[in-house]
Amino acid sequence: MEKTLFEKICDKEIPADIVYEDEQVVAFRDIAPAAPTHVLVIPRKAIPRINEAKLEDQSLLGHLLLKAAEVARSLGLGESGFRLVINNGSDGGESVPHLHCHILGGRSLQWPPG
Ligand code: AMP
Repeated sequence: MEKTLFEKICDKEIPADIVYEDEQVVAFRDIAPAAPTHVLVIPRKAIPRINEAKLEDQSLLGHLLLKAAEVARSLGLGESGFRLVINNGSDGGESVPHLHCHILGGRSLQWPPG
């Protein structure tokens, strides 16, 4: 199977500004930031999207969310706040078929999203 773009980032085959990594997840700055701080946190495991995650991924998904909050704090967003976003499918705005959680912060974000 062809590796996804984000698998290639995990494997350092494509450069990225990595801000955190461990044995389960990698966090790197978004190439087209939508906020002053915009980081993607991804599992090394190539789950295409949250809708295809399995019960066996429960612990990995918990780790991913906890690490997203930890990374947000490490980037100075703990006090001002931040948003975590997971886009799923075409209506959800997903463009890369490898599960990723956006961390957005550094400005006041509007609700509801467009
Ligand atoms: P989504 O639209 O939720 O699938 O988000 C995919 C995100 O990946 C977008 O915000 C893109 O800007 C970002 N992106 C695409 N290619 C790269 C890359 N090579 N390095 C970092 N971010 C990327």
